[in-house]
Amino acid sequence: GENGNGGGGGVSLEMPEIRYTRLFINGAFVDAVSGKTLETRDPRTGDVIASIAEGDKEDVDLAVKAAREAFDHGKWPRMPGSERGRIMMKYADLVEQHAEELTLLESLDAGKPRMATRAVDLGTSVRSLRYFAGAADKIHGETLKMSRQFQGHTLREPIGVAGLIIPWNFPAIMFFSKVAPALAAGCTMVVKPAEQTPLSALYFAHLAKQAGVPDGVINVITGFGPTAGAAIASHMDVDMVSFTGSTSVGRLVMEASARSNLKPVSLELGGKSPLIVFDDADVDMAVGLAISANFFNKGEACVAASRVYLQEGIYDGFVKKLAQRMESWVVGDPFDPRVNQGPQVDKVQCERVLSYIDHGKREGATVLTGGKPCGQSGYYIEPTVFTDVKDDMIIAKEEIFGPVMCLMKFR
Ligand code: NAD
Repeated sequence: GENGNGGGGGVSLEMPEIRYTRLFINGAFVDAVSGKTLETRDPRTGDVIASIAEGDKEDVDLAVKAAREAFDHGKWPRMPGSERGRIMMKYADLVEQHAEELTLLESLDAGKPRMATRAVDLGTSVRSLRYFAGAADKIHGETLKMSRQFQGHTLREPIGVAGLIIPWNFPAIMFFSKVAPALAAGCTMVVKPAEQTPLSALYFAHLAKQAGVPDGVINVITGFGPTAGAAIASHMDVDMVSFTGSTSVGRLVMEASARSNLKPVSLELGGKSPLIVFDDADVDMAVGLAISANFFNKGEACVAASRVYLQEGIYDGFVKKLAQRMESWVVGDPFDPRVNQGPQVDKVQCERVLSYIDHGKREGATVLTGGKPCGQSGYYIEPTVFTDVKDDMIIAKEEIFGPVMCLMKFR
């Protein structure tokens, strides 16, 4: 790898072909206006997987224009919901038919164990498309009796052009959890995948066209947050923004809306969720839950239970069992079926997580397992369990977004 430590990429069978690397605007793949590209990297090695078009404000303008036209004059918002639903069902079938290839793409781009990617990431994507396809012709308003003489009624209408900004931890699931409801409602959209993981979104754009989603309805702009993302958030002709990502960027998105056209903003941000285990809990089950809630997707999960509170009577037994169970936890190449945990998504995230681990050590928490990077190359981190964590430590307060579990004792 380019990090120079000579490690190999591991299992390199069946690598997917990278077919789509350009922006998707108005039904066609095009280069960025600037001609610039960004590199998406293999987190197993740090090597470049592909150069992807780097969209910026000018490209967002073109995409919004296409989406506006498709909304104001196109068929999609005007066709019966049942017809949109039919096309979305076809779209779901196509994603399912290409699920093996998409699984490889997603595993490679995000460092996710392949088996879990197929079941969870692609499985959930297909299910949400079908769920929302079924909802497309069931969008009801309400009738309200307001007084003896007056009735009110509400209609639910598509809002217009939706700006959809997605993170890198579940690129496929996040794509469809935003795109599918917007499609069902009859909206048109500009999607910005995360710069770390742009590959599956471009493939999904291609499949949408094959399924019969009209040109201009789904546009995908790959690019960076402060440029392409910010251009969507502050665009005067984007009617709403749905954003999933960090709390700090969520604030920027809301601010950009306030300073532009006051578009409604929906935000799904970070977390630091507690898992509370009482003395009468089944230790085996509690340990199993703590492991999956902290180490699933290498801890890159907004719902990670990254604060584990143990009542004092169960503490020692829990710690012992956890240390045992972690002995059989395998970190390694996500294409190896025995592997539980792949590499962190990129160098920045890897270094961020390692710096939190250093904070934990410096603040006096005890390392039960892990505590350092691992592997010959790439962005691997040992699953790390800290005991003796106190509520006021940084590791107990801030979202780490990596394979780090914090155990705290309570009476
Ligand atoms: P991030 O906020 O850095 O990036 C998310 C997206 O926003 C990316 O597409 C990025 O390019 C874009 N972006 C960055 N700066 C922007 C700007 N100024 N304007 C507009 N867009 C911008 O977050 P991340 O590091 O990709 O994801 C990690 C965070 O996401 C964690 O905090 C995690 O908890 C959260 N998350 C939450 C959920 C949820 O459902 N609540 C799901 C997944 C991730």
